[in-house]
This record gives sequence, structure tokens and C-alpha cells, in this order.
Amino acid sequence: MKPSPTAPDSPTFEARQEKALLVHERLCAAYGAPFPFFSEKDPLSELISSLLSHRTKNQDSHRAYQQLRARFPTWDAVRDAPTAEVEAAINPCTWPEQKAPRLQAVLREVSTRCDGPCHLEFLADMPIPEARAWLEQLPGVGPKTSAAVLLFSTLHRPAMPVDSHHHRVAQRLDLIGPKVGEGPAHALLAALLPPDWTAQQVYDHHEALMFHGQKCCYYAAPACGRCVVLDQCPFGQARLGGVGSQ
Ligand code: SF4
Repeated sequence: MKPSPTAPDSPTFEARQEKALLVHERLCAAYGAPFPFFSEKDPLSELISSLLSHRTKNQDSHRAYQQLRARFPTWDAVRDAPTAEVEAAINPCTWPEQKAPRLQAVLREVSTRCDGPCHLEFLADMPIPEARAWLEQLPGVGPKTSAAVLLFSTLHRPAMPVDSHHHRVAQRLDLIGPKVGEGPAHALLAALLPPDWTAQQVYDHHEALMFHGQKCCYYAAPACGRCVVLDQCPFGQARLGGVGSQ
């Protein structure tokens, strides 16, 4: 189903689809796609890693994850451990006192719903909308995490996460309206992509927009003058006084 435009003067859905593909091609060329998948985690490990990373620097959440893995032999052992021990293991990340009981609640819920040892491999055979809904019923799991588990883990399924860089770039390019938050942006941006795209294509799209946010379309002072999609970007053209507009 086509999402409706957010304002009467918004571009049509078809215009946004066309722009999304053009932006994809230019940014993939600029940043060197195809990008290798960075994670080799199974889906449950990816879920735990993703929950640890919430509002935490990459290096700190990586250290917390490594410490947790070193301290406990299995995710079932994390689930059943005294919460204080889990909290101590994940101490490098932000809010370990909140994240430790949250992780254990997630693991308990997963094992209840699996009726056995914790795992998420069965998501490989589920239609993507169902797999995402299954994950999003877990405590603290929203659309970004559900998509990250399916795409980044060894499942490599074509579900697209939208992080803050991706969201900012998409908003400035008017692929989504100015008031669309990160959560609702997931469905709107995914709808612009061809439904038969592979996981690699979806991954490249996400990574290319994210890299663009990190390397050019900065939060405070975007480098619009050297941007390869300036001609597609109303925000950048307004900043530069119409330069590059068509
Ligand atoms: S023109 Fe500027 S605001 Fe637009 S995408 Fe490029 S860097 Fe970002």
C-alpha cells in the first residue's frame, strides 16, 4: 500500500521512489558499495548486542558485549544468572542497572516463546513482517532493532534499519516529511525500495545513507557544497541559496 504524502505540497510517492533509487545509485558509487557485512553474529547475539548499544558509544557497547560473552558460556546462562553479575559484566555500557534486567527479561521471554533454549534461528523461515512483529513484542525492541537483527545477523534478511544519520539524510532529501520520526520512518522508507531487493541491496542502501550522514551530511553543518545529491536536496539548495537546484 502506498503511504500517503505528509503535506499537500509533498512530492508524490512515485517521485520519492524515483529519488530514493537515484540517491541510492549516487551514494553507493560515492562510498564504494557493495559493502561487506560487518557482523557475524547469530540473530540472538545480534539482538543482545543491539540492546547493549542503545545510546552507548560503539567501543563501550563492544566491550560490554565481549565481557558478557567471556563471563557466561551461553545466553541461557545469562538469563539464569544473578542480575548483579550480568550488570557487572556489562558495566562499560550506559545504564547497566537498567539493561541487565532488561536483557534477562528478553531472554526469559525468548525461551518461553521458543519453549526451550534461547535462539532465534527460526526467524529465517518466517515472512519478514511476521519476524519483525515477533521481535517487536519483546521488551525494548522497536523497528530499528528488529530490522538490525534480521539484516545484520547471519540471517541476512532484507529488512532495513533507520538510524539517526540515515533518518537525517532522508529527511533533508525529502524522502520523508519533516515531522516523521525515526520509528515511523522505517515503513515509509522501506516502501520506497523495490520489494524484490536482496539483503545486500537493502544493506548497501542503509549503509550508503548512514555513511553520507557521517561523512558529509553532518548534523550541525552539512557539507552541501561537495554533496553528490545536492541537486536532489531541497534542504541543501535552500542553505546554499538555490545553487544546484533543477
Ligand atoms: S545537500 Fe546538504 S543537506 Fe542535502 S543531503 Fe547533501 S549534505 Fe545533506
